[in-house]
Amino acid sequence: MNHFPSSLSQATEYRDAIFAGGCTDLMPLFKNQVRDHRNLVFLTQIPELREIRREGPGVSIGASAILADVAESELILNHFPALAQAANAVASPQIRNIATMGGNIMQDRRCIYFNQSAGWRSSLPPCFKTGGDVCHQIPNSPVCRALYYSDVATALLVYDAQAEYWEKGALHCAPLRELIHRHCEANGTACRNRLNILVTRFFMDSPPKGERSGFYKYAMRTSIDFPLINFALRCGRSRSAKLVSGAAAPEPLILEHTAALLDHGAADDDILAACQAELKTLAMPIREACISPARKRDLYLQVFSLLSLREDCPKSTEL
Ligand SMILES: Cc1cc2nc3c(=O)[nH]c(=O)nc-3n(C[C@H](O)[C@H](O)[C@H](O)COP(=O)(O)OP(=O)(O)OC[C@H]3O[C@@H](n4cnc5c(N)ncnc54)[C@H](O)[C@@H]3O)c2cc1C
Repeated sequence: MNHFPSSLSQATEYRDAIFAGGCTDLMPLFKNQVRDHRNLVFLTQIPELREIRREGPGVSIGASAILADVAESELILNHFPALAQAANAVASPQIRNIATMGGNIMQDRRCIYFNQSAGWRSSLPPCFKTGGDVCHQIPNSPVCRALYYSDVATALLVYDAQAEYWEKGALHCAPLRELIHRHCEANGTACRNRLNILVTRFFMDSPPKGERSGFYKYAMRTSIDFPLINFALRCGRSRSAKLVSGAAAPEPLILEHTAALLDHGAADDDILAACQAELKTLAMPIREACISPARKRDLYLQVFSLLSLREDCPKSTEL
């Protein structure tokens, strides 16, 4: 970024810096003493990081843009409807008014054994995320199995978004999928191993005119809740279909086989069966506050709505 304060990019050279967006994800972690609240670097007052604008062949969204602005932006509603729907589906209006795009993507993975007070956690040995070497969800797992619940990530991935970020004092631009993979992997270990990355912007190329895309989220409560499972789909004639599912594993799942069947105009029953089979193979359900792994597997049957998504979701207009 041309006017990006150099002191901020230098902050990525310090391992202990914590970049803060709206703090809606950080605050409960501070209260539960799983994250240290020192060395906070607040980002929300930097105007360049809040911009949503046309750029090159697409759109750029600053990492500190708040979700309410993304959900209401004409640019996003007209060209990236799945993203507007996802931003509008996060938590509650109060949270969407302060929560940022960067914070949503870089949010911590969650698990009923980790998102607890220090007193509650003291009755069990530390898990991977708190400096130990066990996953209480799946005790024989060699890695943490906490889930990644970002609604926005699912939608950004369906548009093949790129992320711009500072790391160790250097500016990078890479597919968002790679950044999320690195973040989710590092996020399954104790805080000291977290990536020290400052995300500045997300880029998406304009979708072909007439392409349909949309986002669906299943949650216990529609007023405020993390997803039990979410989906984003894009499909059209100019490029291959893409289908992404979130909250089903430690990182979002790209359902390539199902997308290929959508492209080939397969029969609805075959698409449904393929989607359920692909989810059963790739998903890694764990015990959650309000759903068991077995019940969550039943949710995969809900993919029937993907069929209506094909016809019902909005078409993109020309940028
Ligand atoms: C009650 C409740 C309900 C929620 N429901 C949902 C939901 O339905 N769907 C959902 O997706 N999420 C949900 N969340 C999680 C979270 O609040 C949101 O994801 C929110 O978007 C986080 O944004 P933030 O700006 O507040 O992040 P923060 O709390 O400020 O930051 C979150 C993480 O991102 C890092 N970070 C922030 N900005 C940057 C940046 N620019 N570069 C690098 N790292 C950065 C921080 O260091 C921190 O690790 C919920 C949270 C709560 C408390």
